[in-house]
Amino acid sequence: MAEDVKDCIFCQIVAKKIPAFRIYEDERSLAFADINPLAEGHVLVIPKNHAVNLMEITPGDLAAVHQASQKVATALMKAFKPGGITMLQLNGLGANQVVMHYHVHLIPRNRPKDGLTILEWEAKPGDMKAIEKMYKKLIEAF
Ligand code: AMP
Ligand code: ZN
Repeated sequence: MAEDVKDCIFCQIVAKKIPAFRIYEDERSLAFADINPLAEGHVLVIPKNHAVNLMEITPGDLAAVHQASQKVATALMKAFKPGGITMLQLNGLGANQVVMHYHVHLIPRNRPKDGLTILEWEAKPGDMKAIEKMYKKLIEAF
């Protein structure tokens, strides 16, 4: 895993030092095919500038990546006509982020037959006292 920008695999894709199926790009963002697709049409959208995660990316790059994601999602719907598209974005080892360069996953879905059960969960009512405690702690952090 690269901490250093020069070793970052996604920076190398941006610089065309390693190949990728480049689907869309503009001044600030790049979309390319994930090489371990969870479904047909699994695409990653990244900022061209290196940023590790949601907390570090600049507001301008964040906006650009999500605007590019909207364009890619529209093309995915047109090309594959899935039942829907899941957008996933992981931050930190504890969240199973593997590549330490901010990226959005766009994953076309056709539930339930696509078998991506990891992307499904059952709603279980929370403890309101615990939610209130969480709320107070989070508000304090702002
Ligand atoms: P994560 O950091 O867990 O959100 O996921 C990293 C994603 O990057 C995985 O889905 C990998 O399949 C994908 N990936 C890693 N290296 C490459 C590459 N060279 N080209 C395209 N996708 C890649
Ligand atoms: Zn990078």
